[in-house]
Amino acid sequence: MDIFGLLKEAAGKENVLLNEPMKNHTSFRTGGNADYFITPADTDSLIKVMKVIKASGMDCLIFGNGSNMLVSDRGIEGAVIHIGKNFSDIEIVKDGMIIGSGALLSAASAEALNNGLSGMEFASGIPGSFGGAVYMNAGAYGSEIKNIVKWVKVLDSNFEEQLFCGDELCLGYRSSVFQKGGYIILEGMVELSKGDKDDIGALMNELNAKRRQKQPLNFASAGSTFKRPEGCFAGKLIEDSGLKGITIGGAQVSEKHAGFIINTGDATTDDILALMEHCRNTVYKKFGVMLEPEVKFVGRA
Ligand SMILES: Cc1cc2nc3c(=O)[nH]c(=O)nc-3n(C[C@H](O)[C@H](O)[C@H](O)COP(=O)(O)OP(=O)(O)OC[C@H]3O[C@@H](n4cnc5c(N)ncnc54)[C@H](O)[C@@H]3O)c2cc1C
Repeated sequence: MDIFGLLKEAAGKENVLLNEPMKNHTSFRTGGNADYFITPADTDSLIKVMKVIKASGMDCLIFGNGSNMLVSDRGIEGAVIHIGKNFSDIEIVKDGMIIGSGALLSAASAEALNNGLSGMEFASGIPGSFGGAVYMNAGAYGSEIKNIVKWVKVLDSNFEEQLFCGDELCLGYRSSVFQKGGYIILEGMVELSKGDKDDIGALMNELNAKRRQKQPLNFASAGSTFKRPEGCFAGKLIEDSGLKGITIGGAQVSEKHAGFIINTGDATTDDILALMEHCRNTVYKKFGVMLEPEVKFVGRA
């Protein structure tokens, strides 16, 4: 049987797509096709799929909600594993919640609110999955995943489940131990405190209003394009370099927030990469600071 047949046998034929346009799965709305796009139904099916992929020697990339991904216009060689709603269970437990890696942060935050649990307010407007947020140690408005996560269960490269707790997670600014590769995040526990539902809801509304006011949410993007350099803000450096509003093809440094590169409608990933490079070079020449991308470029060179 060929690889396509083996993958369909492992995941169920409706869960394996050939030549899937990745622009349908990224918040930037750009990117070429993935050779295989697989949405496993559960952990057993995920393990079967990973065994086929390992035996074939094919490359494999994990995708959550695609809100921090910049996919090559030339597509992705090998397999993309999509961890989404099939891994999105949320369970209320003593002292917090266990969140499936495919659950959206907005859904997990809403669940916390409904149960009068405080601690996830910062996350309610971040458009990622819980797995992607752990991988990135996502954060906003003075908090981050590091402050709430107690343990994370992953599948390792030998198809065994492993638990990572506390310091083992190595959570730093937009980084985690999982960025070394080889792990698929399955679920994790967040520790939350009892709070007043009205207060929790009011804080979420306030933070989300700030986002709408400051960020170009009506355009496709992947949020902040660059990481925050030590002691300053990428958006400020870009703005002070005179780059606000500048475009290459369909990509633009947002007029509203220079820290965001947006897709004005028909941008390609090459447009976005060229604009990122232009921002990095200009900021470096003016301020001697080399901006480091926060968005993850993946796929064929
Ligand atoms: C409008 C907008 C606003 C944003 N605001 C913020 C913000 O305030 N703060 C912030 O930190 N980020 C922000 N982001 C960026 C993004 O939402 C976060 O980085 C988010 O955590 C990414 O989650 P995801 O599920 O979309 O991950 P993806 O983009 O799909 O993947 C990101 C990385 O995580 C890995 N990954 C994903 N799921 C798993 C898994 N289950 N197991 C192993 N690896 C996995 C992927 O391989 C990839 O390397 C914003 C993005 C947008 C578009």
